Amino acid sequence: MEITLHFQYTPSNVRMQLGDVVDVFKENIPRLVERFVSQIVSRAADALVKGDGEERFRLPDIRCRCCGGQGFAFKSHGSGGPMKHLTTVFGDIEVPNIRIYCKACGARMCVTAPLLDVAPKARADENTRNQLALAGALTSFRSTQTIGGIFGSNLDKTTFWRYAQKAGEGVSFQVDPDEPPVLEADGTGIPTHGDGKRGSELKVLVQKCSDTTAEASGSQCRVAGLAVGSYIGGWDRLFGPSLEALAKMEVVHLAIDGEADVLKPLDNVNVKVQRCLWHIPHQAKYTLWEDKADKDGPEYRHVMAGIYEAVSTAYVDDGDLRLLLAITRKQEVQALIGYCDGHGMPKTAAYLRNAQHDLLMCVYDRMAGRTTSIVERVMRTVNMRVNVGKWSRKGALNINKIRLGFYYNGFLNYLRVS
Ligand SMILES: [Zn+2]
Repeated sequence: MEITLHFQYTPSNVRMQLGDVVDVFKENIPRLVERFVSQIVSRAADALVKGDGEERFRLPDIRCRCCGGQGFAFKSHGSGGPMKHLTTVFGDIEVPNIRIYCKACGARMCVTAPLLDVAPKARADENTRNQLALAGALTSFRSTQTIGGIFGSNLDKTTFWRYAQKAGEGVSFQVDPDEPPVLEADGTGIPTHGDGKRGSELKVLVQKCSDTTAEASGSQCRVAGLAVGSYIGGWDRLFGPSLEALAKMEVVHLAIDGEADVLKPLDNVNVKVQRCLWHIPHQAKYTLWEDKADKDGPEYRHVMAGIYEAVSTAYVDDGDLRLLLAITRKQEVQALIGYCDGHGMPKTAAYLRNAQHDLLMCVYDRMAGRTTSIVERVMRTVNMRVNVGKWSRKGALNINKIRLGFYYNGFLNYLRVS
């Protein structure tokens, strides 16, 4: 079998420059693709109907809807008949909608879409839909259209938007029980309509990957939850799909950067929480400001020095030493709380009192992550896309499902160039 495409082009006043010559070719790409697909699908239909040795196609399993029979004859085949509209990465094309009928029962069916693995009512196969969705998730829809045009595609930005939304709706994340029980959760502001100047919050849950998974996906972590909503609450939506898997884990390590709310949905989970140690001094600076502590005064320095000391926890292998260290740390933090109480710094005292338990978890437990640095890296991936333009909450969620799925969960992994 051989497919031959004739490319007819009559030059008229073409400036002789490689780019200009290629531009002429690019303009013809959608039509070339159209003819190529038409020929391929026609040959595949021949192979299906005649079984005449053209079996170089890995044909899908096409059976009569009525009787399940696999003997077919052509009803209409070739040009002049009805056409099927399809979408490719180069643009929309029209190919003959080949119709066949069942030799056993006479039922008719259109076979172009099934032969190309395009679902009924869809215009593109799954891989094309996902690629278009990804293109829209990687950069702004306008840029996607422009870059597509440079490479010969005539799709417009709304097409990328539509496929991204649709594909996003079909993606969900949850904790994988076969990956390590090490999680980080955090939220980031995103610009959404109707949510005032601050917009709304995208909450992200990430799970550390085993070495094998990391090698396959190219990422040290995977996204295990994604939710969009207001700044306060909403953690139940983030953890909801994973609660069953989490409840079965012996112990779950979760790093957060401070919001106690996070834990509300995790009643039935044996969760050990680690406050992000990087955030502690930053948040303490804020409470000290609220307490109107003098930045150059000895009290301020005493408290900050104590806090930096408390968050510099080295990993220690020796179990007894670790226990001793934990006890010492606890006494130091409690002394610091007493100091704040006694020196007119109630906000800072309250902050430390609230954080003290989660602060020490990594010392007790040699926890994998002492900060929320992994999820914060993920947040940068979110912000680089979502801060272009303004979104509906659903739109922002969908685009990030695709985007994060690609960067962290192996979605369309074969497109990754690293
Ligand atoms: Zn039949």
